[in-house]
Amino acid sequence: MIDMPVSLITGSSRGIGRGIALGLAKNGHAVVVNYFRSPDSAEQVVAEIESHGGRAVAVRGDVGSRDDRAGLIDQTYEHFGRLDVLVNNAGITSQGRKDLLDATEESWELVFATNLKGPFFLAQTAANRMISAIKAGEIPRGTIINVSSISAYTVSTNRADYCMAKAAMGMMTLLLADRLAEENIRVYEVCPGVVASDMTAPVTEKYDKLIADGLTPIRRWGTPQDVAKAVVALTSDAFPFTTGDRINVDGGFHIRRL
Ligand code: NAP
Repeated sequence: MIDMPVSLITGSSRGIGRGIALGLAKNGHAVVVNYFRSPDSAEQVVAEIESHGGRAVAVRGDVGSRDDRAGLIDQTYEHFGRLDVLVNNAGITSQGRKDLLDATEESWELVFATNLKGPFFLAQTAANRMISAIKAGEIPRGTIINVSSISAYTVSTNRADYCMAKAAMGMMTLLLADRLAEENIRVYEVCPGVVASDMTAPVTEKYDKLIADGLTPIRRWGTPQDVAKAVVALTSDAFPFTTGDRINVDGGFHIRRL
């Protein structure tokens, strides 16, 4: 078993997940870089971590697939022998961003499988393994972080399935936090605002204008590094008497203003 905390970050081949993987690696974690369709990008993340003397491995897996989720956890233990932190980051936007009057069941099923069912059952599997490891004295405690979105409470009528899945992730965080507190596993929701990534690239102009017009008190795009810093802090010993919290990483977007 490796003598450093091990973090599994879903969807860390690109975007916010990549930033989280690099951030955790920089802070002394061995990292499992999960990817689905971008093996080369995942290998680049691993190479970057290794070039700084860190430990990382790329593991393919669709979080929406039961077999792939089991494989992800199994391979984490095969490579590193332990799992201290699960970051449920992988996510997709609504397919075609259609108005809700035209929204399709196909998009609903894909979005809910990837953004909600996958994270829940991955957390369940990870938690069961963490509980055994904590009881055996192999790891001191566990942390599960769910990357949701301002869309959990902000309406976008062209992304109804995405908004609903992210809203449910808030309740999922509370449920897990309550049940797992007695097992010494803390659970958090990190709620990014508008962050520059491939996901938001198609709507760059729209958000450039909204931000310039004052959408957020802090008038800039968020970066994957902004989200990574919050995740790193939550996995540290900085918040020992907390669980179930939502951490907004959104430039103040959540503040109601007149
Ligand atoms: P992104 O740039 O589109 O990257 C998505 C990542 O998820 C990729 O690494 C992709 O891996 C992976 N992924 C997609 N489907 C997967 C699946 N079925 N199984 C495993 N991995 C999968 O997105 P992002 O902007 O970084 O978003 C990351 C998370 O932050 C998402 O949950 C998103 O909802 C949330 N978020 C983003 C923003 C934003 O403004 N960007 C704001 C709020 C919340 P492959 O390329 O290898 O397939």
